[in-house]
Amino acid sequence: MQLIKLTGRVYYLPDNQETDQPNLYYIHGRDFSVAIDAGQSMRHVEEFYRAIKTAGLPLPRYTLITHWHWDHTFGLPYIQGESIASALTRQQLKRVQHWAWTEEAMLEREKTGEDIPFCNAHIRKEYPDLNGITVALPRRGIETPMTLDMGDGHLHLYPMDSPHSRDALLIWFPAEKVLFVGDADCGDYYENQGLAAPDRLENYLNFIRSLDFELCCIGHDAPESRENILQYMAELKQSARD
Ligand SMILES: [Zn+2]
Ligand SMILES: [Zn+2]
Repeated sequence: MQLIKLTGRVYYLPDNQETDQPNLYYIHGRDFSVAIDAGQSMRHVEEFYRAIKTAGLPLPRYTLITHWHWDHTFGLPYIQGESIASALTRQQLKRVQHWAWTEEAMLEREKTGEDIPFCNAHIRKEYPDLNGITVALPRRGIETPMTLDMGDGHLHLYPMDSPHSRDALLIWFPAEKVLFVGDADCGDYYENQGLAAPDRLENYLNFIRSLDFELCCIGHDAPESRENILQYMAELKQSARD
């Protein structure tokens, strides 16, 4: 799989529905480069890094994590450089580090609602040997916004609630008008049966509307235009109210 060039300095390794593998994004900065999300396994990280090298680009110094779900974080032990997530993501992954990876334990977590069948089904596909799972923590967990200066552009990091999870980290790259949101444009499968709670959706929509972006980079589909994503979110709002 090759990197797809999205704008002057933004690239991505496209998603794969087979194992619910998300897009992994890459921003080529002058002083250092940044990856968005760590992917789901060693295999996934290796595929990403191979594609980066093939494109003649340097490996990322930072990996930013959009939220705690396994498909975005289980690659963390295999990345190079530093990682940054929201403080809530770090906290939740500390819990996940105590999870046992046996069929019994996985089914038990589905009963208690700690995890969902959709994730477990895909985890079994990506990890035929469940003993291969290692959960690592991001180096930093931030509670307030921060900025990374790449020398030729800034990345703004916003830890916040989203309709998809409580621990989102949104990343805005104003130099190229790109916004990275992970799965924040979806409903919440853990707390809300896959629906978007109207108040959470409203707050999220108000926030992203205030940012100047033209492209919205989402987790599991091709990036969307500002117009499309705002319209889609408005429709989600409608269905959340119905
Ligand atoms: Zn995802
Ligand atoms: Zn997710």
